Amino acid sequence: MEFTEAHEQFRQSVRRLVEEEINPNADAWEEAGIFPAHDLMPKLGAIGALGLEYDPEFGGGGADHSFTYVFAQELGRCDLAAVPMAIAVITSMATPSLARFGSDDLKRTWLEPTLRGELVCSIAVSEPEAGSDVAGIRTRAVRDGDDWVITGRKMWITSGTQSDWLCLLARTDDDSLPGDYHGMSLIVVPTDAPGFSVGRAIKKMGNRASDTAELVFDAVRVPVSNTIGEPGQGFQQQMAQFQDERLVGAYIALAGARRALDRTKEYLREREAFGKPLLAQQYLQYELAELYAEVDVVDGFLQHAADRYAAGHDVSREATVAKLKIGRLVRQVADACVQFHGGMGYAEEMWVARYYRDARLVSIGGGADEVMLRILTLLEGMGKR
Ligand SMILES: Cc1cc2nc3c(=O)[nH]c(=O)nc-3n(C[C@H](O)[C@H](O)[C@H](O)COP(=O)(O)OP(=O)(O)OC[C@H]3O[C@@H](n4cnc5c(N)ncnc54)[C@H](O)[C@@H]3O)c2cc1C
Repeated sequence: MEFTEAHEQFRQSVRRLVEEEINPNADAWEEAGIFPAHDLMPKLGAIGALGLEYDPEFGGGGADHSFTYVFAQELGRCDLAAVPMAIAVITSMATPSLARFGSDDLKRTWLEPTLRGELVCSIAVSEPEAGSDVAGIRTRAVRDGDDWVITGRKMWITSGTQSDWLCLLARTDDDSLPGDYHGMSLIVVPTDAPGFSVGRAIKKMGNRASDTAELVFDAVRVPVSNTIGEPGQGFQQQMAQFQDERLVGAYIALAGARRALDRTKEYLREREAFGKPLLAQQYLQYELAELYAEVDVVDGFLQHAADRYAAGHDVSREATVAKLKIGRLVRQVADACVQFHGGMGYAEEMWVARYYRDARLVSIGGGADEVMLRILTLLEGMGKR
């Protein structure tokens, strides 16, 4: 990947925003269990960060994927994972299908204001009975004239208590049953539609500043024209959307891991025991050195994946490998950071405990490690769907 002066300028504008608008508020937002997305997103919209690769005709930046990589690297410098996650939900989970397949009308109404940061959105795929097995979803949209009437529940929805609209996966073919891959659609659902409600906000181990909600749809009526692309293509569109999510999530997590190692190294340089800085202990040097090496290896793979994505290749395999390996690696890094901080690694007053809690999600959200292994198994011609 080649970085130019334009990348550097963009990097600096994101870095300033992270340092001035996000990090100083991290503790308060974690305490509150929510961050003010409607205040923060317009600031990201103003520097063009929310629609980097999208068509300028609909408010996008028309940039190539290398800018997304730079954006993610800078988001990895946030002092909490919750906010980068909610940002990535907007840029790389809830809007890619709309930008690729949505009608011009849908893009003008929902995408453009979202890219300006005026509207907040969520991706609503998981359900109480279907997370890893997306084909198990039950939420159904039944056609009534020119409307869909949507009934069901969604679970674990990031920003779910404050979103203005959802990119919702629902069954739209009458003969499509839980377990079937066909007959689903992605639909834009405004959250002020009658029949929509937030069931509950879920208290979590980490990513606490991100509100995560269970959502209820009780005969929610939306126009059929809110369907993204052709009805019936939702599962396939969502599988493609997962590739964006997994790659960008991996870029952010990788940058966070490198920063965690840097901060741990500095701590060990300052902290003395046995008459010298802890960093003088060869065991700790070797452990950190090896983790840096692992980070370098994954970084090389991610840059290779990013280049292939930018060149228009199908990167489903790369996104799957990236998601699996970064999930495993951040668990290792977080564990080492806690261990090498000793008691301070266990204290809430340091950054480490939050990092440890937040990092644990990478192996679960957006498809658990085992789901990545299942996809790789199928790609290698082993096992059955
Ligand atoms: C903080 C947070 C935010 C989230 N945000 C969103 C969001 O914005 N939108 C959204 O739609 N979803 C969201 N999710 C849901 C997330 O994608 C799911 O939690 C994840 O896909 C796992 O699904 P599940 O929780 O139902 O686990 P289950 O499907 O019940 O699986 C449980 C465990 O079983 C194992 N497992 C599952 N399948 C297999 C298999 N085939 N072989 C072997 N082992 C297997 C794995 O270890 C897995 O972790 C979020 C989740 C969390 C925790």
